Amino acid sequence: MPRLATALLGACCAVLPALAVAQAPQRPEVARAAAALQDKVVAWRRDIHQHPELSNRETRTGAKVADHLRALGLEPRTGIAHTGVTAVLKGGRPGPRIALRADMDALPVTEQTGLPFASKVTDTYRGQTTGVMHACGHDAHTAILMGVAEALVGMRDELPGEILFVFQPAEEGAPEGEEGGAGLMLKEGVFADFRPEAVFGLHVFSTLNADRLGVRAGPTMAASDRFELKVIGRQTHGSRPWGGVDPIVAAAQIVNQSQAIVSRQMDISRQPVVVSFGAIEGGIRYNIIPDSVEMVGTIRTFDEDMRADVFRRLNHVAEHVAAANGATVQARIPADEGNPVTYNDPALTARMRPSLEAVAGPDKVVDMPLIMGAEDFSLYAREVPGLFFFVGATPVGADPAGAPSNHSPQFDVDESALDLGLRAMLQLALDYLEGGNAG
Ligand SMILES: [Zn+2]
Ligand SMILES: [Zn+2]
Repeated sequence: MPRLATALLGACCAVLPALAVAQAPQRPEVARAAAALQDKVVAWRRDIHQHPELSNRETRTGAKVADHLRALGLEPRTGIAHTGVTAVLKGGRPGPRIALRADMDALPVTEQTGLPFASKVTDTYRGQTTGVMHACGHDAHTAILMGVAEALVGMRDELPGEILFVFQPAEEGAPEGEEGGAGLMLKEGVFADFRPEAVFGLHVFSTLNADRLGVRAGPTMAASDRFELKVIGRQTHGSRPWGGVDPIVAAAQIVNQSQAIVSRQMDISRQPVVVSFGAIEGGIRYNIIPDSVEMVGTIRTFDEDMRADVFRRLNHVAEHVAAANGATVQARIPADEGNPVTYNDPALTARMRPSLEAVAGPDKVVDMPLIMGAEDFSLYAREVPGLFFFVGATPVGADPAGAPSNHSPQFDVDESALDLGLRAMLQLALDYLEGGNAG
């Protein structure tokens, strides 16, 4: 064993300096463009932050993006998937086709950052009046991609290939009864006329400091599926349960038995699985056993086979546990289409990681853990090889573990992340288009 350890150590030491030498530098044109655009990107982001719009309602944001693309001399297509905007930039030389995507929507959250450009906007969500806030940082994504578009237009003549800019609404999910997001963008043909060979996206993230980029090959963010169960019994007096069928006891057993799917049946050494119930509703009075109980919840998985397997098993548990209680169940598992796992193409990830290291520095590119949250970028990356990476949002020096997370009313993006995000996306695009890092 000691000899093996020595041998491995020797191998490491021999390899490390070689890797360090192979480190590609940041492109000078990336540094130049980022420096020239920095103030604009900050101003755009502050403006978008101050005027957030809920999913499928991004009319002002979409118009701002379209105006900007038009001013750059591009011909944007607008109104895709309600408020989405796309534009194609053709370079002066032949080359590959890529797509760069940003999302534009905000959340029903009342902002508590105290920033001078904090949102005071309110809107109606699920019948309730609520504050609206860019609590997920999509304001940063939109501003960064506007900057990337301007930088690439400035390099147009020397640029090999074509770039599709995708500004997408409703990443957080369309309002009830509406369609939206990446699924609807694809349905309305964003990749129909322009089939990219690769798609890139980024997300600002509170768990990283703002001088870091995060990346992961393969499954990266979870598939997210909603389910609905209605357990139907027969109403009776609370003192005489034998006079009816108790759906509350049946529902409780379904909740418990569902956890055994995760802990006893799924091979969680392959990938983790989560089944969570988010709401249970049934009954009205302490001494009436109600007719039915309704439950909703979420399933998170990282593998398509395991995803389908959890659906099967949860349906099985619901049906048979209800039956064992003399009850029946109406199950919608999944209740709708859900988001598939966000999968970073391993070859593309390996190829582009040096581009991220070039802008952040090799020790500043972090291997991301699996993220249980979901992202509809997954739908583009199911069509063509994709790479979705993360940009730190928490100020350097602050502990990311204690920073308000995405979706928190105190969530904030350190403005240096705008510069790092822009340089990362720009370097990635140029390296890919020029065939850099290949082989
Ligand atoms: Zn979000
Ligand atoms: Zn988001």
